[in-house]
Amino acid sequence: MLYNNLSSYFRKKHGKRLKKICIDGGFGCPNRDGTCGVGGCIYCGERGAGEHIDEGLSIEKQVKTALSKAGDEELFVAYFQSFTNTYAPLEILKKRYDEALIDDRIVHLAIGTRPDCIDEDIASLIASYKNRVGVWVELGLQTANDKTAYVINRGYDTSVFERALKILEKYEIPVCVHLIVGLPGEGEEEIKATCKYLSRFEIWGVKIHSIFVMKNTRLADMYYNGEYEPPTLDEYVRLASYIISHLSKKIIIHRITGDCPKELLVAPSWNENKNEIIEKIQNYLKENSISQGSLYGDFK
Ligand code: SF4
Repeated sequence: MLYNNLSSYFRKKHGKRLKKICIDGGFGCPNRDGTCGVGGCIYCGERGAGEHIDEGLSIEKQVKTALSKAGDEELFVAYFQSFTNTYAPLEILKKRYDEALIDDRIVHLAIGTRPDCIDEDIASLIASYKNRVGVWVELGLQTANDKTAYVINRGYDTSVFERALKILEKYEIPVCVHLIVGLPGEGEEEIKATCKYLSRFEIWGVKIHSIFVMKNTRLADMYYNGEYEPPTLDEYVRLASYIISHLSKKIIIHRITGDCPKELLVAPSWNENKNEIIEKIQNYLKENSISQGSLYGDFK
């Protein structure tokens, strides 16, 4: 196998592929409301990564709609995707997570959030779901380079990520780390530094996103002003392959592309062809005789 993907993981664990129910839990983000920043990360759209989720539906309705289209045998992950899904008082978090777990066919709870919105109480609440479903937390690191973090207005530095990882580790909550390839000012050196940084930690999963410029974002302004140019598809394929080959073989790679709704995409146009991107990465890995973890030893 070229890399451990999530489908294979689920097939091993449940004997089948699982479907994701992407949920907008009605949360906000401290990097947009002034608590730690304003304007948000420069690539973040108006729906905080939930652009493809129907607007204005309750959590229960979102889940029921997805389940109503599925057969009795299908299994699901309830994935709180939009904005920062641990950014609320504990009782609200619990109420919203409970609203999603309304059917036995939902066998995992996945929660996307920021490292600065993880504390012991939140981790303890999330861990409490482990007796009902599988649980994991997704942290939007994007890069290990604090200089880039400042440029993209991420609003926290890597020490905050490390603190969150420690807390989640204490509660034995698997962590999936999000990375973005093609951030402003980042090339091969920065990707190498991020991979080397990640090799220091026991991480359960990684999502590799190709950057895209979305309408009505600060990154779009930078693109139109000539201050930013996304990588070419070939550059992306090379850098994504670098990451794959330098991740521990134990890590589950959840995705290797980004996904921008067509109507919101400014650039690069190659982002529209998800299957082509995946195929190119797989071909690159084969042609160069590399696979997940085959170059991980470079860091030892
Ligand atoms: S942390 Fe997430 S939701 Fe908040 S601004 Fe950044 S990308 Fe958007």
